[in-house]
Amino acid sequence: MPLSTRDLARSIRLRSLHMVYQAKASHIGSCLSMADILAVLYGGVTHHDPLRPDWPERDILLVSKGHAAAIVYAVLAETGYFDPAMLATYGQNGSLLQGHLSHHVPGVELSTGSLGHALSVGCGLAMAARRDGHKRRIFVIVSDGELDEGSNWEAILFAGHHALDNLTVIIDYNKIQSFGSVKDVLDLEPMADKWKAFRWHAEEVDGHDHAALTRSLSGRAAGMPGVVIAHTVKGKGVPFMEGKLEWHYKPPSSELLQQAIADIEAMP
Ligand SMILES: [Mg+2]
Repeated sequence: MPLSTRDLARSIRLRSLHMVYQAKASHIGSCLSMADILAVLYGGVTHHDPLRPDWPERDILLVSKGHAAAIVYAVLAETGYFDPAMLATYGQNGSLLQGHLSHHVPGVELSTGSLGHALSVGCGLAMAARRDGHKRRIFVIVSDGELDEGSNWEAILFAGHHALDNLTVIIDYNKIQSFGSVKDVLDLEPMADKWKAFRWHAEEVDGHDHAALTRSLSGRAAGMPGVVIAHTVKGKGVPFMEGKLEWHYKPPSSELLQQAIADIEAMP
């Protein structure tokens, strides 16, 4: 019996927390920010088969913010791509599971971590699918901070021009990037208007509301690519991490790990 998306989100939050703690790694705030987006995508929206990662009929999901690898590995393990016991090797020498996403891991379609590249790859996949008469959808999760990279805007222009309606971008819009608030570093507002000007269908949702995410991600606009601007909270689920830049980098101490576990277990 598959987990509900709420239970899946809770599980991958907890797993990524343990992984980051054990590996003394960074990016737990980035992981927790997109837990609900991943849970909704893997828990029902995308067509995929964990037992056949290369199933030709699958939808394709690219996670451009490859530094949030821990929670992507967690959702892949939780949904059956590989043994969850492997998660304990995260960040260790010789492990497949390193701190940025690797396509050598079952279920990871594209190695990412150098920001600003996956959307262009997604455009190519969407164009190829259309030319092949393939009905798959292409999903790309991007961070807000990486939208500072000009390569994204070339891809956004291209997808709008070619009306790639099989392409959906989800922005994990947590308003914080590695060196400060998005508003202070390089303001992206008015976000939705920018995408609309490039001929995209844009929707804004609460990125932690599973029903709203499911509704927005299940549909697609005819004749244009879609962007779901998911308003999220960095570190969501652990109040002492929420909205705090330092948790882009810091792993929790053992005391704070226990507090964070309790906070996540108490989430509705
Ligand atoms: Mg961000």
